[in-house]
Parts: sequence; structure tokens; C-alpha cells
Amino acid sequence: MTDVVREVVRRGLCSGCGVCAGLCPAKALAMSIREDGDLAPRVDTPRCLEKCHLCLDACPFSGGVHNPRERNIELFRDQPGATYDENIGWHRRSIVGFRQDRSLREASASGGLATWCLEMLLEKGIVAHAAVVRLADHHENGFFEFRGASSVAELRQAAGSVYHPVEISAIVRQILAGGDGEPWAVVGVPCLCAAIRNSRRLRQRVPYVFGLACGMYQNRFYTEMLLATSGVDGSHVSAVQYRRKSDSGLASNFGFRGVDARGPGVEVPYRGLPYYLGRNGFFRLNACNFCMDVFAETADACFMDAWLPAYWREPKGTSLVVIRNSVIGEMFQEGSREERLWIGEISPEMAVASQRGHVRRKRELVYMRRRIGAPEHAADARPTMAERIDWLLQRRAQIRSKQAWAKVGRKYGPRAFWLAVADVVLMQCLARSVTWTLALPKRVARKCRKMLCHGT
Ligand SMILES: Cc1cc2nc3c(=O)[nH]c(=O)nc-3n(C[C@H](O)[C@H](O)[C@H](O)COP(=O)(O)OP(=O)(O)OC[C@H]3O[C@@H](n4cnc5c(N)ncnc54)[C@H](O)[C@@H]3O)c2cc1C
Repeated sequence: MTDVVREVVRRGLCSGCGVCAGLCPAKALAMSIREDGDLAPRVDTPRCLEKCHLCLDACPFSGGVHNPRERNIELFRDQPGATYDENIGWHRRSIVGFRQDRSLREASASGGLATWCLEMLLEKGIVAHAAVVRLADHHENGFFEFRGASSVAELRQAAGSVYHPVEISAIVRQILAGGDGEPWAVVGVPCLCAAIRNSRRLRQRVPYVFGLACGMYQNRFYTEMLLATSGVDGSHVSAVQYRRKSDSGLASNFGFRGVDARGPGVEVPYRGLPYYLGRNGFFRLNACNFCMDVFAETADACFMDAWLPAYWREPKGTSLVVIRNSVIGEMFQEGSREERLWIGEISPEMAVASQRGHVRRKRELVYMRRRIGAPEHAADARPTMAERIDWLLQRRAQIRSKQAWAKVGRKYGPRAFWLAVADVVLMQCLARSVTWTLALPKRVARKCRKMLCHGT
């Protein structure tokens, strides 16, 4: 028996997508939250079928690192008009844009193009259902769950980003059980998209897979911590919004807010605690350290924020979409012609620039995290000393934050948590100050050069 628990979960490589549990023909795997807050399959009944391997074949991390390039080549290289970029893989084109309807754009994470695309697929009858994410009725396995949406109204209720692992096993079982063969669309983070596309059975029944560009993913404790910080009772939560947009300021001027029986909690600005936790590795899934997939390379389209200077001053958000499937490309053209969308073309270089930090961390520094030498063609993959120290401290924060929240944070709240990880926070502050100071002369020189160039 070679099941995914032994090969992936025990090696700390599971991202908790749940595709394996949904595929298991013996229903031997069940998804659950572990003590450290990560979502993962466990062997529910020892019925694993010898030599079945369906779970391992689907898992993007079964080879130790998730590098989707081979699957990307297989799926998209031969599409008419396909073009190649080292960081994006094979794709057709990239666009930026948003929905013209302000209220729908407001409810979405960025410009609302992901929900709009799913709506089009349903309206045109191209798919019968879409798997999207909603607040769960019961929270044992997490605050959120995948649900099948079969109407535009259901899709719109699921708009927005959920920075919380969501597993799809129940929907996978539903898809496979659907004898009528109704086609589905699925939206998810890159590893989930890859797991769907790695499974031959799912590939037939899920003709459309939409990816969300992903920097890194945090586990359930991240949401618990934010809820506690905003003064919301995590056991009676009735709404969680990770990106409540503002009417003014920059595109990143959004906040986290939970609601419980007493009403909404205090809004936590994204640039404060959520950004700090994400940037410094707190509650991060270990699997994310071994993922090279920024642009959901196995997806028909990948949606992300247009984190580019031209769109920063747009508080309602702007989507950037890497398109790999011609049907999706034509849908966008139609939406633009009918003035339901504003869209503009953008180069692959700009798409990469919008996710520069993630490309550096996920694609170029993965060799450092795997402790292997970078291949010759990856000349940029050599980490600086600052990057090496940063990685070691992030790794420490990742492990310690999960232990501290499980032991003291859950019981005594955020203050006790911060006390328990004070040494990690101090080390990170110290390291950042030192590297900032050491880099100062270079930065000043660069500024002077720029000023001189402008002066001439
Ligand atoms: C964990 C995570 C990390 C991300 N990291 C980045 C990043 O680093 N850089 C970047 O530019 N963009 C990132 N994104 C994508 C970004 O947050 C938006 O989702 C994207 O810009 C699409 O916006 P939209 O307005 O077009 O989508 P919307 O119209 O809001 O639709 C989003 C769709 O995605 C579904 N969805 C939301 N969360 C999840 C989830 N966790 N799993 C599966 N489906 C989900 C929703 O149900 C909805 O159907 C991330 C998203 C997630 C979930």
C-alpha cells in the first residue's frame, strides 16, 4: 500500500486540497484538521486498495515539489496562438480589467473577473455547475467549504477571496457520482487545480479549471487569530470577509472583518496584522515551501490582483488574468464589446512584474529551500545572505506560530500568543534592521544615480 498519508502528509507536503480523499475508490481517506491547524487526509478505515495509486497520481506534491510545467506543456502548448514565458508557462494572452457593475465589483476580491467568467460559463450552458467557496455550516474542518453553484445568484454569493484552506473531497465525490456527466467548472489555488488536472477521471468531467494566483497559504489558525484580534467569537462566526474594500486610498486598502451573534467585529487593516503574518511565515502551510506554481499553470485561466503602479490607485480593485483557453479569451472580448467589462491587454512581463515577490520566492528560491543547487539555466536562483536569513526565520515562525496558537493562543488569546513567540518576532525585527542598514549605501547610491540621470 502506498497511500498519500504515508508519502505526502507525513513528509509535511500536504496542502489539504482534498482531491485525493474525493478520488479514493475505497473511501479510505477522510479530511480533518490536525493539531497544528493544517488540513490533511487521514486513513479513516484501513481499506486502501493495493496498487490503486489514484491519490498519489493526483497529488501535485507526491514528487516532493509541485512543479506544474510538464502538465502545462501537455495541456496548453498546442493551443492555437500559445506563447511561452519562463515564469507563466504556456498561455495565450494576459489582460487587466474589472466588471462595470460597481456593486458586483465591490463584492469580489479584485475586479470581479473570476465570478464574471463563471457566470458566463453557466449562462451559456457550457458547464452545469461550478465549485466555489462559501462559509461552512459546521466549522470542525474549517470555516469554509466548497459548494456546487448552479445559478448566477449562488456564484455571486461566493465572490471574494478566502485565505483559509478549503478541501474539495465532497464535491469530487459528487462530480464522480454524477452519472449524467454534467460538466463542472472548479476554481481554486494552483495546487488544487493541478490535482484536478492530474486525475484523468476528473479531467473529463471538469472541462474548466480556474486558478487563483497564490503567494503562500496560511492554515486555519491564521483566521482564528484574526477573528480573535477583531474581537469576534470564533465558535459562533456567521461571516468572515478577508477583503472589505474601502472607498478611497490604494487597492491594498482593504480589511479583515468577522461577524458573530453580537454583530461585526473591529476591522483589521490588511496592511497591518494580516500582511505581517503572511510576509513573515506565520501559520504558513509547509507544502507552500515546495510549490513552484505562481500562475496556476494547469488552469484555463489564472486570476490575480493587478499589483502594478498603474492600478494601485483603484480602491475597488483590478483583476489581472492569464488566459490559456481560447473560449475564455473570446468570452472576455464579448464582455468588453457589450460594455459589461473594462479590459485592456497587458504583456507577460507585466503579469510577472505584478507578482514579482512570489516569483522570486516560489520559483527562484525553491532550490535554497530544497537544499539543492540551482540548475545552470536558473542563474538568478542564488539567494543573497539576507534571503537565506529571512528564510530561516520564516521557517521558525511557521513552526512556532502553529505550536503557540494551539497551546496558548486558542485558550488565552492573541496577547498570550505574541508573548509565546516574542523571541521569533524580535529576531525577525533585528535581522530586518541589520539587512536594511547594510543595504543602505547601495540604496543611496542607486537613488543618487537616478537623480543624476534625470538631471542630465
Ligand atoms: C489563498 C489565496 C492566495 C492568493 N494570493 C494571491 C497573490 O499572492 N497575488 C495575487 O495577485 N492574487 C492572489 N490571490 C487571488 C486574489 O485574491 C483574487 O482571488 C483574484 O484576484 C481574483 O479576484 P476576482 O475579483 O477576479 O475574483 P472573485 O470575483 O472575487 O471570485 C473569486 C472566486 O474564487 C473563489 N475562491 C475564493 N477563495 C478561494 C479559495 N481559497 N479556494 C478556492 N476558491 C476560492 C470564490 O468562491 C470565487 O468564486 C490569492 C487567492 C487566494 C484564495
